[in-house]
Amino acid sequence: MPDRRPERCSPAPSPTLPVWGYHTGLTPERWHTVYPACTEPGSPVDIATGTLGDADPADPVELDLRPTRWRVLNTGRTVQAEPAGPDGGPGPGRAGGFTVATTRYTVAQLHFHAPSEHTFDGAAAAMEIHVVATSADDAVTVIGAPLRIGPGPTALGLVLDAVPSEVTPAPFGRIATGITTGGSVTTDELDLSDVLPVGRDTVRYLGSLTTPPCTGGVLWHVYTTPVTVSADEAAGFTAVHHGNVRPVQPLHDRELSVRTVVNAPA
Ligand SMILES: [Zn+2]
Repeated sequence: MPDRRPERCSPAPSPTLPVWGYHTGLTPERWHTVYPACTEPGSPVDIATGTLGDADPADPVELDLRPTRWRVLNTGRTVQAEPAGPDGGPGPGRAGGFTVATTRYTVAQLHFHAPSEHTFDGAAAAMEIHVVATSADDAVTVIGAPLRIGPGPTALGLVLDAVPSEVTPAPFGRIATGITTGGSVTTDELDLSDVLPVGRDTVRYLGSLTTPPCTGGVLWHVYTTPVTVSADEAAGFTAVHHGNVRPVQPLHDRELSVRTVVNAPA
C-alpha cells in the first residue's frame, strides 16, 4: 500500500537551481533562463567618456568608512571580504558606509572581478573592485573601481597585506582551499578609505547586480580613473579566478551622470 499521507504535511523539496557560472554550466548568456531579471537592462555597462558631463558638486558620494577586520573567503566565483568583528566573527556595519542623496548605506562586502566588468570606451581594465552596501530599507548600491596594473599601494594588495602573516606566503592558495573546506581567513584591520580615493569622480547610473539573480534598482558609482593593482596580485587573483565577468549590457535610455567622492562632514 502506498503511503497516503497528505503531501501538505511534508513540504515539497525546493527545486534545485542550476549552479550559475561564467565558463561552464549556466553561463551568462543563459542566466535569464533561470533568473528572469537577467533580461532587464542591467549592469555592467560600457561608459563612453566623451558623453560625460561635469560633476554635480551639490550631490557627492560622502564616505564615512571605518577601519575593521575583514573575513576573506573564496566564493568559488570571486575573492570576497566581509566586515568582521574584533573576534573575527561577523561584524555587520563595522566598516562604515557612505551617503548618497540623504540615503545612508552600510558596507556589506567587497569583491573582485578580472578583467573589469565596466568598460570605458570599449576597453576593460585588468580588474575591478566592487564595494557593495545596503540601506536600512534594503536598497543596494555599489561603488566600483577599475584596477590598473601599477605601483602600490594597491586595492587588492591592501586586502592581502591585512591577511595575518602566518597565512602567507600563499594567501590566494589558502583562500582557494576555502572552496572545498568552507574556510576563510580573517584580516587585521583594514580601512577602506585606503582603497577608495576621495576627490575623484564616479559615474552614477541605475543598474543591477552583475551576478544572478541580477536584481535591479542598484545605484552604481563607478570611478572614472582606476586605482592600482600590482602585477603579482593580479596574477595571483587570475590564477584562481579569471573571466568572472558579465558582458556589458545595453544602456538604452539610462542616464550616466558624474559625482565626486568626498569625505562626509565630521
Ligand atoms: Zn561584482
